[in-house]
Amino acid sequence: MWLTQKSQPRSYPFINPVDYLADVEKSLQLNFIYIQLKDITTDLLQKLKHDPTAVLLIDTYNEHGLAEQRLLFVNLINGQCEVPVVIGRAYADLSTDQLQLYAATDLGGLLIDGLGDGVFIAAERCGSDKMVNETAFGILQATRTRISKTEYISCPSCGRTLFDLQETTAKIRSRTSHLKGIKIGIMGCIVNGPGEMADADYGYVGSGPGRITLYRGKEVVKKNVPTPQAVDALIDLIREDKNWIEPQTIN
Ligand code: SF4
Repeated sequence: MWLTQKSQPRSYPFINPVDYLADVEKSLQLNFIYIQLKDITTDLLQKLKHDPTAVLLIDTYNEHGLAEQRLLFVNLINGQCEVPVVIGRAYADLSTDQLQLYAATDLGGLLIDGLGDGVFIAAERCGSDKMVNETAFGILQATRTRISKTEYISCPSCGRTLFDLQETTAKIRSRTSHLKGIKIGIMGCIVNGPGEMADADYGYVGSGPGRITLYRGKEVVKKNVPTPQAVDALIDLIREDKNWIEPQTIN
């Protein structure tokens, strides 16, 4: 396919390890090499180490795929091979919930340990491409591999919680989810909330029944805002800092 399309922009070959080692024609910029654990050999590691155009797409058919792929990474590390790796997994006939759960476990388990640079989810009869794509970006976001949307840090809620945390989080999310790279803390109470917000850029913290206090980082900027106006006040604050982008202007 690539040989017939190679003049097209952003068109790169996808090569099996046998052809890769046999020096088939390759792109000068970027080449994807599809391997499984069994394909790792000293020759392959040596070649990959000296090829700045190589990116591995790793796959597994093992019932314990995560363990096998982890071993593949161990082989790369032991071979001092720093080639970028896209972790691939294939699924079929799963519900949306199952796909999200399995992919998050299989791929996220490796990424969270710092193994891998990207994900490739092949999903047959599991739901729409949009959902699969969102799942992939969600896994990258949750493992901090690639931040592509707003990050929310909300407290687990407890007896001190001063508002409906799920409903409020959903409301804030529906207005701000397009703000790439911003972290918003949503905390149920002022007693422990600010301490639990960690490194959030903005904080929305319950300060009394029907009242919210807004934070910029760890600094209080607006106290006791009535709840009905609080989300707008949060957006005004983000706008003041020039961090606001209108949703329709996002490409
Ligand atoms: S921030 Fe407050 S409401 Fe939320 S879990 Fe902690 S103590 Fe409870």
